[in-house]
Parts: sequence; structure tokens; C-alpha cells
Amino acid sequence: MKPLTPGDTIVIASHNPGKVREIGALLEPLGLKAVSAGELGLPEPEETGETFEENAVIKAKAAAEASGMVALADDSGLCVDALGGAPGIHSARWGGPEKDFRKAMERVEQELRKAGAMTPEQRKAHFTCALALAWPDGETETFIGEVHGRLTWPPRGEKGFGYDPIFVPEGHAITFGEMAPEKKDAMSHRARAFEKLLAALRQA
Ligand code: IMP
Repeated sequence: MKPLTPGDTIVIASHNPGKVREIGALLEPLGLKAVSAGELGLPEPEETGETFEENAVIKAKAAAEASGMVALADDSGLCVDALGGAPGIHSARWGGPEKDFRKAMERVEQELRKAGAMTPEQRKAHFTCALALAWPDGETETFIGEVHGRLTWPPRGEKGFGYDPIFVPEGHAITFGEMAPEKKDAMSHRARAFEKLLAALRQA
């Protein structure tokens, strides 16, 4: 991987200010500055990929080409084994235009019942996070993080977001929705992908 020098600015290919702040804080110890695609007025590309990795690369490449700077993008979601990996890259879409994840969780539950998946063993699922770094010359590097667990019903806990209230990580009895955010953040798919990215940046 090409090295990044302290003082370099990285474009975070996201229009979500929360995500940009969080990623900016992670890059700070390496002396890297972050600016968002939103701040630069870059257009959001269509996510036409079939995997998290492909979609992260599409977003990072579009931002790198438009800005002439190194860009970082992420894509994430929930994959349920008994549903053939759904909702997967469509995780955000299952919340509908009003981003109602109560409804999205109900849909997951209904489909699990339809599939006859009632035991914890049949309800295995994982969250995936793909991070992509893209250089203006077209080079890309990707990093994948996963956290495995099983789905429970009814939803429990108000602490997280998205599908957190139905996801119980392996080795735990509580859902991500019930877990202290620091604890979730230390073991999440996003944390694992970032660990790999930071290790690669330190090495380069
Ligand atoms: P993205 O922001 O386009 O990557 O959308 C990811 C979607 O996947 C979100 O809208 C959430 O529904 C779901 N998701 C991703 N990460 C998590 C998580 O840590 N907890 C719960 N849901 C998540």
C-alpha cells in the first residue's frame, strides 16, 4: 500500500456527519486530517455493487476521482445465514424511506419464521463492515471486519441503532442494543475493519 504522510487530508466519502466525525477521530493519531464528501460538495454515486466491498470501493473511487485526494468509504450491514445472507447490502433499504428499523427487524423475524428457523443455531447472523481506501490514480485497498452472533426476538435495548436490538454477539447474553456503546464499539465489525486499516497505514 502507498504510504500516507502525516498532514495529508483524506476525504471521507460519506454525507453522514456522525460517521465523518468518528472516522476523523480515528485518523487523528496518525496525523491525518479528514474532510467529508459533503463539505466538498461531491456527488453521491449510485451503489450498484453486489457486495459490501464493491460498494465501498465505488464510493471511495468516486470521491478520490472527483477530489484528487485519497478517499475512504465504508459500507456495512447485517447478514442472516438462514436468509441466504439477507438483508446484506440492502440492510439500510429494509428500513424504508422513513428508516424504520422496528419494521426492518420485524421483516427479518417474519422471514426467519417462514424459513422455520427457530433455534439459536438456525438464527446465526453477522454484521460486516467493508472499508475502502482509494487513490486518485485508481489504486484501491479494502479491509473487512465481521462480528458473529445470533438473532433474538423480541428486540431488546435502546442503546444502539439499526438491527442492534435483535443481535446477540457470540459469547454474550445481551443484545448490542443493551450493551454499553464503548463495549460494542470495541468489538464491532466496524472496529475490526478499522483495526486492519490502521495497522496497514502504520506499516506503510
Ligand atoms: P450504510 O450506512 O449504508 O453502510 O448502512 C448500513 C445499514 O446496516 C444501517 O442502516 C443499519 O441498518 C445496518 N447496520 C450497519 N452497522 C450496524 C450496527 O452496528 N448495528 C446495527 N445495524 C447496523
